[in-house]
Amino acid sequence: MQASGFRDTGRFVHRPARAGVFTPTNLSRLMRCLDPHANIAPPIRAQGAGSASTDCNQSPAGTVIRTTALDRITRIDAYNHTVTAEAGVRLGTLVSALAKQGLELIGNHDQMERTLGGALASPCMGPGIGSGASYLSSQLISVKVITPGGKIMTVTEQKKHLLNAFRLSYGLLGVVYEATLRVRPISTFSASHRSLCVDKFSDVVDRLSAQDVGLKFYLLPHRDRVYVDVRRYAADPGNAYETPWRIKDWGESTILPHVFKSLNRVVPIPSVRYKLIDGISAATHGLVNTKLVNSGNNVAASGRRRRTKPRSLLYSTWCFPATDFSVVAKAYVDFCQQMQQGNGYRCDMPAVGFRVGRDPSAMLSPSFDEPVFSLQTTSTQHRGWDDFVIDLAQFAENWGGTPLFSQSRAFRAEHAAQSYSTRLDFFRKIRRQLDPDNRLLNPFLAQSFA
Ligand SMILES: Cc1cc2nc3c(=O)[nH]c(=O)nc-3n(C[C@H](O)[C@H](O)[C@H](O)COP(=O)(O)OP(=O)(O)OC[C@H]3O[C@@H](n4cnc5c(N)ncnc54)[C@H](O)[C@@H]3O)c2cc1C
Repeated sequence: MQASGFRDTGRFVHRPARAGVFTPTNLSRLMRCLDPHANIAPPIRAQGAGSASTDCNQSPAGTVIRTTALDRITRIDAYNHTVTAEAGVRLGTLVSALAKQGLELIGNHDQMERTLGGALASPCMGPGIGSGASYLSSQLISVKVITPGGKIMTVTEQKKHLLNAFRLSYGLLGVVYEATLRVRPISTFSASHRSLCVDKFSDVVDRLSAQDVGLKFYLLPHRDRVYVDVRRYAADPGNAYETPWRIKDWGESTILPHVFKSLNRVVPIPSVRYKLIDGISAATHGLVNTKLVNSGNNVAASGRRRRTKPRSLLYSTWCFPATDFSVVAKAYVDFCQQMQQGNGYRCDMPAVGFRVGRDPSAMLSPSFDEPVFSLQTTSTQHRGWDDFVIDLAQFAENWGGTPLFSQSRAFRAEHAAQSYSTRLDFFRKIRRQLDPDNRLLNPFLAQSFA
């Protein structure tokens, strides 16, 4: 490419900006990727394990910085209960290293293939018990980022508001290089399991929505069945054995998706296929969620096995106010049944949800004002999924759902603006100051953050 009006004498060569995927292996290479003089094609998007379900980690026309080679655990401070690690460290690696020192991450997080950077820059939520245990980013004490201008910047708790903006900032304010988190000694909780019909589940939700318990559930909308897992710190919770949790994780996250994919291929008649699928789901969840595990800790319950292809399972997650969730759960069942009757699409995997406590530690926290329930719709069925998630987004919007920029498919930018309201305006202002040339803004994120 030649700049117009200049004759190419051969002395000055105008090189096209380099696009594609870069995987820096150290700090200086990461800084070079973001250096405005380095001739790297914008928009530049950070990517960890790539497990988000939206385009927040993509840049087909520009540059993706994959952080997975920045994988050093810098320091575990067993005395002050902190850990410092590079952004590309996988959560599973971090959990194992901490466990060797008798420590665990605060909050119950699975999906162990995700990276520390991705889990801090986007919601990494789970059924944590007690306040501050909902998001991994709530435990962030300080973070080293490379700014859109290619400079290194450290943000600590002394700059509270800026740190709040960096938590769940979707890589829009800079690329996380290293982070320090609060951790804690491994603590055992008790887990009680129940299998309920949806009406009974709604009653339970009403009773527990205001309590700081860890509440996770698997909802089978076409079988009127919910498997509920309630976690509490008890005086004598018993021993937490890791093997039953591993079997549970293996059943839920490996066996079911593989079996359902095969059934979708070999059983052509939908009514027969779905009867089989629901029967297998119910049997698996009935076994692993009611009999197998009755005490645990955040190490055992994290399912430390790493899955190889995070993008092969389709999912879309929305958050609903906890006070309304007993009604939303029933409406969701009706919605799923109507979808199947209307256009034939239905998800083969159970929906997974959990209670997320109120947490204003991040400016873009989906539970900034009140506790919410996250509801993750999951499927292995690709045909019809793209249309289904549009209807799901409409359903969620009607029921006051808050979208997650990394996990909610097909949300409308106007609805996101309403959900996050003035916090989004404030975040946009900070973003424009830190990235005036929009180097980190891809077209998908520009709809909400320009
Ligand atoms: C089957 C399945 C189940 C899931 N279940 C859950 C669940 O229960 N709870 C939950 O919270 N999530 C869940 N997720 C979502 C997903 O794991 C999270 O969104 C995760 O936190 C993203 O981590 P990642 O490393 O894959 O980041 P990516 O998907 O690669 O990136 C996510 C965002 O973070 C930004 N980012 C990544 N690295 C950096 C960095 N170093 N600096 C700045 N920005 C960065 C990206 O630009 C992007 O905006 C699930 C995903 C799958 C596939």
